[in-house]
Amino acid sequence: MNPLNRETSESYFERAKKVSPGGVHSPVRAFRGVGGTPAFIIKAEGDRLYDVDGQSYVDFCMAWGPLLFGHQDAETADAVKRAVGRGWSYGTAEPYSLELAELIVSKLPWVEKLRFVNSGTEAVMSALRLARGATGRPLVVKFDGCYHGHVDSMLVKAGSGLAEMASPDSAGVSPQTAAETLVAPLDDLSALTRLFDERGPEIAAVIVEPMPANNGLLLQTPEFLKGMAALCKKHGALLIFDEVISGFRVAFGGMAEKTGIRPDLVTYGKVIGGGFPVGAYGGRAEIMDLVAPSGPVYQAGTLSANPVAMAAGLTTLRKLLRDDPYAVLEKRGEALARALAASNERHAPGAVWNAREGSVFWSAYGSGMSKRPVRAIPGIPATQKPFYASLFHSLLDRGYYLAPSGYEVGFLSMAHTDESLHGFAAAYDLSLKETAAKGLLGG
Ligand SMILES: *Cc1c(COP(=O)(O)O)cnc(C)c1O
Repeated sequence: MNPLNRETSESYFERAKKVSPGGVHSPVRAFRGVGGTPAFIIKAEGDRLYDVDGQSYVDFCMAWGPLLFGHQDAETADAVKRAVGRGWSYGTAEPYSLELAELIVSKLPWVEKLRFVNSGTEAVMSALRLARGATGRPLVVKFDGCYHGHVDSMLVKAGSGLAEMASPDSAGVSPQTAAETLVAPLDDLSALTRLFDERGPEIAAVIVEPMPANNGLLLQTPEFLKGMAALCKKHGALLIFDEVISGFRVAFGGMAEKTGIRPDLVTYGKVIGGGFPVGAYGGRAEIMDLVAPSGPVYQAGTLSANPVAMAAGLTTLRKLLRDDPYAVLEKRGEALARALAASNERHAPGAVWNAREGSVFWSAYGSGMSKRPVRAIPGIPATQKPFYASLFHSLLDRGYYLAPSGYEVGFLSMAHTDESLHGFAAAYDLSLKETAAKGLLGG
């Protein structure tokens, strides 16, 4: 195994740190979670990333989820090139977003109307404002362990007691804004019940990642999600499914389809734009009609429903409906999980928890882990960070690029070849053996 060459990446990183905070434009890209210098990527194709030092990697981060068909999917590329040839921003009514909206509304019964925005964060921010506007109530419940973008009121941590207002979890978030949010634990229906008993009439909405995938993969039980929906209904609060990561990824209709739960509002991002900046929020027509200009809840965007991004999204979603790749992705995910589990048993017996939902996978590393399903933050072992950092670099040296943080999930795509997947399983076996030998599992 040759050590990686980072010479050019290092020189870029030095320059980048002079002109941007931490040298990056989104924090986790800086490799702080795993140490070392981030590879500067100049090209991506299929399941591969190519760096400025002439090395390539099989990519399991896939731009953090949007690229379900891999890098440079040919049909998406064609559609985008055609769209650019017609102009790339009109700032007017146009038919491209109409086609994408009609397609989504025709397939997802819980989306009677929707509005396109430019990111998942914007979708969440707008859905929260709408929920407050629709109910006339001030508070929103979020769960510890769910991520909803960098919306001020979502960058919060639990207050001193369950029914207490949250406090800021980022500098620059005011205590007043944090106080609009209540934080509840995942996987704990009785805590949520108590919260509603104490604050029910003030709660506008409960927002949840129905597949929490931004602090590890904290898969929830159907009972918890169904109980949450019932509590919302009982207390007149809206249920917001944040499906930015799960929507069109684990099923065309995301977790709403998989669980059969009908959220009042839903947010999308990532796959919906096929790798271009698109987000959306939607839901029941009577609620969505409260959005300007038909209603009093203001929301707007200069570049919203950008025609090039709409073309990428429309092509991606049509392809998903035509090819129905979910069974293939499930099979690949299952085969990969089986291979990884065999390595885990060989080199770290009983010390790995594997979570997977279709093409999304994550492992937690710590002594005794395999017996305890990890469904909430306290279940993630302290050994996760150092163990994953070591495993990550060992795999990177072998040409496999996972997300540069042990709290982020891996993604399979339709572009991953059998050769890449078998190669990854073999590399994982070697890297896990090396990493386990370092005594980082604790216990
Ligand atoms: C990625 C993500 C967001 C934020 O989306 P951005 O496009 O990064 O703003 C919000 N919610 C969930 C569940 C996400 O996975």
